[in-house]
Amino acid sequence: MIKRCPQHGLFRGEHCHCGSAGQVLLDETKTEQLGRLVAGSLRHFPADLGLEMDSHGWVDLAKLGEVVASRHRWADKDLIIALIQSDSKQRYEISGEYVRARYGHSVDVDLDHPVNKSPLLYYGASEEEADRILEIGIKPASQRYVHLSATAEKAWHVATFRTGNPKVIQVDAAAAQNAGVKMMRVSDDIVISETIPSIYLSLISSRNIFRQNMP
Ligand SMILES: [Zn+2]
Repeated sequence: MIKRCPQHGLFRGEHCHCGSAGQVLLDETKTEQLGRLVAGSLRHFPADLGLEMDSHGWVDLAKLGEVVASRHRWADKDLIIALIQSDSKQRYEISGEYVRARYGHSVDVDLDHPVNKSPLLYYGASEEEADRILEIGIKPASQRYVHLSATAEKAWHVATFRTGNPKVIQVDAAAAQNAGVKMMRVSDDIVISETIPSIYLSLISSRNIFRQNMP
């Protein structure tokens, strides 16, 4: 659900960080419907919806507004902007009259985000996946790029949505980038990467996953 706090603007969920209940802009069901349609438009099947996407993933925002309005009578361009501005995962960005997904594409795009500067990055996987990855490297499955986390703890947490007891793989990002693997910072937590050869990967022991944040 998207709400508006009179003091702090748009937010998701029941309460603003200040405690205000705010005013409902879009209920939970409609927020989900709009989110799915925007994700489909900007990450997966723009052409099926009649949208033109440039090589860097940008789509005309007004045209996207027309697409969502044609699917849902209540939806429009302003609600797309509200959806994007209230998204804590920073999934999308707007520049002038254009909008794009920052990551998560299954369509072929050539993204131009800032180069990653973190020497070490992390990837969470199930035990079987981890064994395989350490042999053959990390390759994108259904998406264009691999998603890496900035901390081991975050990688572990992300992987818990897919598997019970995740393993965390450490990526020697500095060495991989030196060797020509393209890695880009797309949000505070996420770096996207091309295929990473196994020589840059190592398993970190579970007792070290949470150590980074301990005093
Ligand atoms: Zn507030």
